[in-house]
Amino acid sequence: MSYDLVIREGTCISGGAIFAADVAIRNGKIAAIGEDLHGEKELSAKDKLVIPGAIDGHVHLGLHLPVGDTVDNMESGTRAAALGGVTTIIDFATPNDGQSLEDSFKERYNEASGHSCIDFGIHMSVLGNAVNEEQIRAMPALGVSSIKLYMNYKDRGWMAGDDVLWQLLTISKETGLRIEVHCENDFLISLLQKEVDSDPAHKEKYGAYAHIMSRPPITEWEAVQRAITWAEATGGHLYVVHMSTARSAMMVKAARECGIDVIGESCPQYFLLNDELYKRPDGYLYASCPPVRHKDEVRTMQEAIKAGAVDLLGTDTCAFNRQQKESWGGDYHKMAFGLPGVDLLLPLSYHMAADLKFYSLERWVDLIATNPAKIHGLPQKGALNIGKDADVVIFDPHKEITLKSGENMATMSDCSPYEGMHLSGWPVCTISHGQIIAQDGKFLGKFGAGHFLRRNLCSK
Ligand SMILES: [Zn+2]
Repeated sequence: MSYDLVIREGTCISGGAIFAADVAIRNGKIAAIGEDLHGEKELSAKDKLVIPGAIDGHVHLGLHLPVGDTVDNMESGTRAAALGGVTTIIDFATPNDGQSLEDSFKERYNEASGHSCIDFGIHMSVLGNAVNEEQIRAMPALGVSSIKLYMNYKDRGWMAGDDVLWQLLTISKETGLRIEVHCENDFLISLLQKEVDSDPAHKEKYGAYAHIMSRPPITEWEAVQRAITWAEATGGHLYVVHMSTARSAMMVKAARECGIDVIGESCPQYFLLNDELYKRPDGYLYASCPPVRHKDEVRTMQEAIKAGAVDLLGTDTCAFNRQQKESWGGDYHKMAFGLPGVDLLLPLSYHMAADLKFYSLERWVDLIATNPAKIHGLPQKGALNIGKDADVVIFDPHKEITLKSGENMATMSDCSPYEGMHLSGWPVCTISHGQIIAQDGKFLGKFGAGHFLRRNLCSK
């Protein structure tokens, strides 16, 4: 029996193992893994790694915000993902004022289908305190298995109070929905902001650094601790997004060891960047929320991932350009939060394994493919197993790259914090459903070819 495509002589990493094998694909699925396989088309992966396509469960593409739309939209963003070896993204539906969750889902679905070149799922955001239980309970039927809440952003009207968090976690226990939470203590942040603002010279003195002065680590981990407590009390399914402090990560790990269902996500920026960035005159370009941390905190975060305290990596991609970022006008209250990154998930997370030794190569694949597939309810993804979708990446561990906007970084943003970084190891071929969608820095995909992924619920 012949195969459509065979990836030959690579070193495969999947399922906690590293092994030499050919990977054969037929009808968009992985059809065989073994020695000396041949097909109509063959790709050599000699001296290269063959891994399941990465899954970035945390992206904001074409997000509409007052500062304008993010510069990476569904087309440019998924093109960047494809070039970076990401074959699945999960984005967020964010309802406008008064819009029903179902209408918001449909809007996001329409923005993605017909435009995304890779498979996509959708998380549903619930903003503020007006919770419509019936609409939330209707989400699983649409293929949405997760609800996102914010414990902060009271000023935008997005903050969910403790009562709402409790209510949603209770619904989550009954339905199997997972509740994803942006954990920051809004009260404490406002208090610290008032302190900063009481100095009339704060703009000149601190500039963008005021962002981190008003958001020290405790503003995150206090909220993480509270969310974990509510998850324990309700029996709900919790997911902490973009953990930026080691204490958050260690609390999530300890809670799960006590039988509480909580997952901890983090992002490469919290291991590789630090708050020195905000001291630069152009520091506002790199503002994210939560902020990147002081180098001592970053070091403990590195220790936390070494200790196994991070379940999966996403990027929280939310890309703006300089012109949009400049609209802050020197006022840290008005900064546009967000960084590009979906295109760099694989090479940065590989760098954290191979060069920085935070984790093994086997765990690298777990963090960016296998665990995201399990946690986000995508059984057809995340491993090189017969019968799974043929989403496969050939990764060249020897390829040397110095990151440069407009050259090898595929984001449309002109202000990446990774500009100039030197990396060894780069994705050289991305395959989605058996089709080559990127090869040697060339995009070969088709916008609209990505399928919407209905995701499984947590088992109750
Ligand atoms: Zn986000």
